[in-house]
Amino acid sequence: ELRSWQAALRRQFPIIVANPGLAYLDSAATAQKPQPVLDAAWAYLNSENANASRGSYTWGNRTTERIERARMRVRAFLDDPDPSRSGVHFVSGATEGLRTVARDWLTGYLRDGDEIIIPYADHSANMLPWLEAVQLLDRQGIRVIVHEMPYDSAQEYDVARLARLVTDRTRFIATTQVHHVYGGDMNVHRLRRVAGPGVVICVDAAQSAGHLPISVRDLDADFVVFSGHKAMALPGTGVVWAANRQGPVFTPGGWAGTPNTSGIVSLAAALDWLDAAGTTRIARWTVALGARLTDGLRRLPSYEVLGCQDSLPAASAVQQRHGIITFRHHRIGSNDLGFVLADAGFLVRADDHCQGERGERTTSVRVSLHVYNTAEEIDRLLSLLAELDTQA
Ligand code: PMP
Repeated sequence: ELRSWQAALRRQFPIIVANPGLAYLDSAATAQKPQPVLDAAWAYLNSENANASRGSYTWGNRTTERIERARMRVRAFLDDPDPSRSGVHFVSGATEGLRTVARDWLTGYLRDGDEIIIPYADHSANMLPWLEAVQLLDRQGIRVIVHEMPYDSAQEYDVARLARLVTDRTRFIATTQVHHVYGGDMNVHRLRRVAGPGVVICVDAAQSAGHLPISVRDLDADFVVFSGHKAMALPGTGVVWAANRQGPVFTPGGWAGTPNTSGIVSLAAALDWLDAAGTTRIARWTVALGARLTDGLRRLPSYEVLGCQDSLPAASAVQQRHGIITFRHHRIGSNDLGFVLADAGFLVRADDHCQGERGERTTSVRVSLHVYNTAEEIDRLLSLLAELDTQA
């Protein structure tokens, strides 16, 4: 039943259908786009392309309405309990989104002696902006104490050690929902209880949006940031959702520029598509494919799966990968392995994956999946990897 559901969805991706010899395994970098998303953007550009909130004619007003509708669509996608209070700000991607929160909000929020807790082993886009904000404040004579988010041996946040870090001066915690190298769910919903009600929690949902259901109600988060282009919208799209419990979020002027209108239209269509497909089922599909790949790799002695505890089955709750599996060959360098795989039609990412200061220092190969990937692709990849296992 899941297979026929998936087959029907896969057929909606023109770039996948047009390239039967290729396996696109780099969705954590950017996702492919289904036809309805492409159609929505083209239909808008071909019928009523105009700048938003400009002039008195219909196209401009319709564009403004479409952007408002996209904001409501984001709120629904994130299970927003209070759409009348929250803010949705469109950006180019998670990097710009996190920097926007850092520069336009955090710098105005923190006071001398405040403390923040940020991840040093997640994506550097979720580390550098906070450090920049602290440096900026430092130049104004405002001293902010920065703590590193503690991790446990499974590369998850260590809640017990986090609890000991939180003081009455803690004002802000930056987190990641799904890790972009290990693919694990960081269980961010556990953090509110530890942090207490007064701490602002920002969630980087770059690798979870479109991959599993996201509920800001459950997360009890203040900010959620994600890249639209990784959630099947056009490139150059991203979202900052703000609960707005912490007062006005962004400095005036956010509306002054021209928004990425066709991108925002595509984002609304992408969220429609994802919700119709069902993010719960998408998660079941990619978690199953990830477990298949992990199990296969663990039978090949030359490979190491990063963040994987060999004593546990790949499909166990603690080892579930949301479609991201990263590995190394003990003798073949990861860049070389990436080229070999690309030659054989497997489009993967091989490098250090932009991990923050405490991340993996050596390169590795990352396979990242979405709903259009298949078990056949995983099996073909595994048989090639098996050949390289015995040869080297
Ligand atoms: N955070 C995480 C966890 C990511 O995986 C990425 C993308 N690799 C980003 C942030 C940055 O996203 P973007 O490149 O769309 O700005």
